[in-house]
Amino acid sequence: MSLLVATVLLVPLGVGGAQAAAPGAGGLGDRLFPGLGNGGYDALSYDVSLGYRVGTTKMPGAVTMRAVATQSLSRFSVDSAGQQIQAVSVNGRAARYRLVGEKLTITPAHVLYNHLPFTVRVVYTADRAQNPVSPGLDLPPGVANPFTVWNETPDGFGVMGQPNRAHVVFPSNDHPSDKAQYTIRLTTPDDRTGVASGRLVAEYKHRATTTWVYRTQHPIKTDVVAIAVGKFRRLRQTGPHGLPIRSYLGLAEFRGKSYTDAMQANAAETPQQLAWLEKQIGRPFPYEQYGVLGLTTLYDGVALETAGLSTFGLPLSLPAKDEAGTLVHEMTHQYFGDAVSPRTWDDMWISEGHARYYERKYDASRGFIDLNAELKRLYEADQQSRRDSGPMGHLNSQLGVLFDTDVPGQLMLTGLSTIVGEQTFRRIEQTFYDRYRDGNASTQDYIDTANEVSGRDLTQYFRAWIYGTTTPPMPGHPAWHSTPAKAA
Ligand SMILES: [Zn+2]
Repeated sequence: MSLLVATVLLVPLGVGGAQAAAPGAGGLGDRLFPGLGNGGYDALSYDVSLGYRVGTTKMPGAVTMRAVATQSLSRFSVDSAGQQIQAVSVNGRAARYRLVGEKLTITPAHVLYNHLPFTVRVVYTADRAQNPVSPGLDLPPGVANPFTVWNETPDGFGVMGQPNRAHVVFPSNDHPSDKAQYTIRLTTPDDRTGVASGRLVAEYKHRATTTWVYRTQHPIKTDVVAIAVGKFRRLRQTGPHGLPIRSYLGLAEFRGKSYTDAMQANAAETPQQLAWLEKQIGRPFPYEQYGVLGLTTLYDGVALETAGLSTFGLPLSLPAKDEAGTLVHEMTHQYFGDAVSPRTWDDMWISEGHARYYERKYDASRGFIDLNAELKRLYEADQQSRRDSGPMGHLNSQLGVLFDTDVPGQLMLTGLSTIVGEQTFRRIEQTFYDRYRDGNASTQDYIDTANEVSGRDLTQYFRAWIYGTTTPPMPGHPAWHSTPAKAA
């Protein structure tokens, strides 16, 4: 071996060595969540362990993040909140760390070179009594935080990590643009079950506890990782193409009443709903498994498209006409939102618009709603919502990503299918899905795909709907008008 070769090896991949190392950025510049996420690396996988014990909200936790450096790093950060950090190591060596606000800054013993993989391990305690409010969440004065990350049930918990609260559950690069694979290990007393996104790959029995190990095959964004503990009725079914369906329905009573049977009545429709949705989109379900998780809690009054296992609260026990649409909504998110994820939080309509579009089509197919009458009503209210919340691609507040892009997204996609026709619309959806599956897509990516597939320039149509302050005309309905509500 010549000296020259040795020198090359000491300077990995031609990068300038230790002198070029710099701190990774402490934010990814997301317009709505400027401090969220971290620069200088790309997370590849997380191995998350949490231990649930009866009688305490404190849970021992550990996360091992495998990542690859995208610059030479003298230090870097991960997002972390509401946790007590006990130890941090990088590549097996103790590292210095400092927690300021929701940033855990880590200084490794050695520089991390660009392009090279590294491993970070954080040992911590999570406390389910800690539900820190998102920095920058614009709550009106006197209004309490409507969301708790940790949702307590009588016999366990579930988590609601959207949009930026997953790092309350495990330290992470908590931005949708950095998707990763997961191994999740939940240790519970023997009479409880730990459930999570992915397939159950191992179940270790100890003296009086069990460790449940789940692994995902596809990259998932942080905010849609399912994690729950409780006593559940298991419902095993088979979906299209032999897809395993594993649903978990809370057994605990809520205010003296059991909801398990009523939740099962809705969850049992999963195979038929999957078949309907696959036919609409023309693509098989994106993940290796699907299921419905029904928690004995109000779950912040929402349902969440947790990957491979959508999470619901007690409303899962409502009659089908009131709940089936929500089931199809979360199922659609598995394609749009989870498999194809927004690049930034300004692209959230890609997730919510599609979920709402197929949800309402499904409800109409079951005779639960008059879709045209509903669209007219929603269109008429659009100008007022635009004024209150901002256009869907440039929302006024963080909370808007949860509530304010689904309806305008539905209206815009409906209009698009009117302009280009059902067949072309379906080809746009399929091309977009095929191109960005397991990755991220921006608003411009959708516009480019639609223009290319349709052979037309629809840029102005999209921009008016996504960024305009005035409601655009509704294709096919020139007589519809949208006016602001009259001042009271
Ligand atoms: Zn949704």
